[in-house]
Amino acid sequence: MSIDGARKKITQAVDGFAEEMLDINRRIFERPELCYQEKFAKQTLADYLSERGFAVTTPKGWPPTSFIARHGKAKTPAVAILAEYDALPEIGHACGHSMIAAAACGATSAIVKAEPDHPGSLLVIGTPAEEGGGGKIQMLAKGAFKGVDAAIMIHPSNKTRAVARMYAIAELTFEFRGKAAHAAAFPDQGINALDAGVLFYNAVSALRQQLKGEARVHGIFTHGGDAPNIIPERVEMKFYVRALDYGYFRELERKVVECAHGSARAAGCKLKIKKREAEYAPFYPNYPMGRVFRENMKTLGIVEDSFSETEEIGSSDIGNLSQALPTLHPEFRVGDRGAINHSRDFLTAVVSKFGTGAMIGMTKAMALTVYELLANPSLMAEVKKEFKAATGVGNRRK
Ligand SMILES: [Zn+2]
Ligand SMILES: [Zn+2]
Repeated sequence: MSIDGARKKITQAVDGFAEEMLDINRRIFERPELCYQEKFAKQTLADYLSERGFAVTTPKGWPPTSFIARHGKAKTPAVAILAEYDALPEIGHACGHSMIAAAACGATSAIVKAEPDHPGSLLVIGTPAEEGGGGKIQMLAKGAFKGVDAAIMIHPSNKTRAVARMYAIAELTFEFRGKAAHAAAFPDQGINALDAGVLFYNAVSALRQQLKGEARVHGIFTHGGDAPNIIPERVEMKFYVRALDYGYFRELERKVVECAHGSARAAGCKLKIKKREAEYAPFYPNYPMGRVFRENMKTLGIVEDSFSETEEIGSSDIGNLSQALPTLHPEFRVGDRGAINHSRDFLTAVVSKFGTGAMIGMTKAMALTVYELLANPSLMAEVKKEFKAATGVGNRRK
């Protein structure tokens, strides 16, 4: 069968699985589970993919709510569709990861139905805990992506865009320690940790004006003292430092840490800095994959919103994956422009007619792109060549 013949069959097959995709989205949406607790979601996907002929396992040492599902006679090339399925505290599936899970099932089922003897190995890799838990980072460390030639996932958003980049992010906790004393009778005997915290907040605010364009620093007080009549002895703050360029990211982190040291010194406090180990690396898209995805969107009549690849971006653990293998993370709009991720409006959009319609359209583009990666060796060679060449680029971890 020619690639063109297969394309038509795959597109039709996605339509055939539309109802099942809506059902998976709805079921996971209605039972939101927080990071590393996604038992129901994992089981839903594992059962579904087993029924469709995939061999599903969770190898030893992987997070218990992760999995790999494999279909195909040959080992290579191996192309993975990633499924996220964790929810947010309080607000549930307001990032729409239930849709990512449904799209992964729909795209792979369609390829298997249309082309049961497809070349290579077709994978679904279930990656839990994207919302802060760094599931993909843990899985990378366990070798979960060894032998995977390329990986892709589509993410719901307030805009449709085939190619976007994402910030690296460092999550830092600053603890200023002073000395408690009666704030009225013996203020001179206290050392005010809140002063250090306020100075630090203001130092970072001043620093923010001198930032290069593609960077963010933002933080909060998580402990500001215990009572107004006690000179605060302990103040804790959490800050996120983000940048696109990896070199600048490290520089900016150093500057923020210097602000904290200076503020601690000015107030006579001690300072402890803790850093979350699972740091998200900058996401660097694979451009040949992006080009093919874009072509597929065009053929399907899916219109991209006009945004540059660095506008309105966040951070994700897929950043770390993009440092290890060719990766793509297109977005699709599920509501109007104002329905932004992690909001109540977004939550409504995730199960709306418009939103799920967009999901099905983009699932087709993903299925076609994955099939081409499996069936077209020269495309795969180009994807790998670009990945290798890009390791010298500044937004890569070195
Ligand atoms: Zn998300
Ligand atoms: Zn999110």
